Amino acid sequence: MTRGWTSDVDGHTPPPARRAHAVRARIDELHRRHAAAPVDVVSYYPPEAAGRPEVFGLAGVHVSGVRVSVGDSAERFPLQSISKVFTYALALEDNGRDATLARVGVEPSGDPYNSITFDDAHHRPFNPMINSGALVAAALVHGRTRAERVERLVARLRAFAGDPGIDVDRTILAEQLRSTDRNLGLAYVMRSLGMLDGDIEDTVAVYLSACSVTTTTDELAVMGATLANGGVNPVTGERAMPAALVRDVLSVMLTCGMYDAAGQWFHDVGIPAKSGVSGGIVAALPGRIGIAVYSPGLDGHGNSVRGVNLCRDLSEHFGLHVFTAARPDAAFT
Ligand code: GLN
Repeated sequence: MTRGWTSDVDGHTPPPARRAHAVRARIDELHRRHAAAPVDVVSYYPPEAAGRPEVFGLAGVHVSGVRVSVGDSAERFPLQSISKVFTYALALEDNGRDATLARVGVEPSGDPYNSITFDDAHHRPFNPMINSGALVAAALVHGRTRAERVERLVARLRAFAGDPGIDVDRTILAEQLRSTDRNLGLAYVMRSLGMLDGDIEDTVAVYLSACSVTTTTDELAVMGATLANGGVNPVTGERAMPAALVRDVLSVMLTCGMYDAAGQWFHDVGIPAKSGVSGGIVAALPGRIGIAVYSPGLDGHGNSVRGVNLCRDLSEHFGLHVFTAARPDAAFT
């Protein structure tokens, strides 16, 4: 195993140019290997994505701002559940840690992302990385109107990505709003239980608007790097969220970010991360790098098959697991 993104295969530290070349070659090789590997795909979302199973992007951004992109990293796709990370970040910022925790927990549920189960003992959804908790987080985002809440969320996403053009895809949003019975049902049940208040359709629309923001793997890696960098975008220098709350967000990503496969992910990859049903994954290794992967074939948990496999190998080869001991202070190049 090599450690850091910088060491060469023997663990020696070669001169920077050679080192950068070796790291790039290794990343390219891993991407190629996973692009060619037969994968056990359960589904595609949307189903049309099945027509282009080969699309496969990878990007990494070091907190120093150094970037690497491989494959289809400029392909656009909707954030879907990856947006839950940023909705939660804004809910925390708007309401503070204690008031947010009173409404949504930080406990892995072990259930699928859209399950209609709650933390009955504490009278709240288990965590903000599954739909029930994300709906509560969306309800906690401040704003006088639905449009203002969406605009505030999109503004944050722009700061995280460093792209002023990032926006809600209206076609994707309309389609999601048409087929969201389960989210509406979840929200109504939560309101009946006193876990959620306010206008249900507004809350679901705010949540789905964030899900419908499109991005690229390149941009998503910057978003991850912003989390890894204490909330400051390492490319633009802009602060996207308060430093004190970053640890809260990374913690729920690590324990709950990969749905009911979060334990396996932590074991195998060991980097705070969040997946979306569109096939994207963002991962943020504090103080080091943001990583994004996009490949639309999904496993039974709704996680990208190639994305998970590639991240497992990247973590192994570059010593990225948070519990990797004796990690040298590495640079990306
Ligand atoms: N729009 C989807 C939903 O709420 C997001 C799901 C996901 O990415 N897991 O149902």
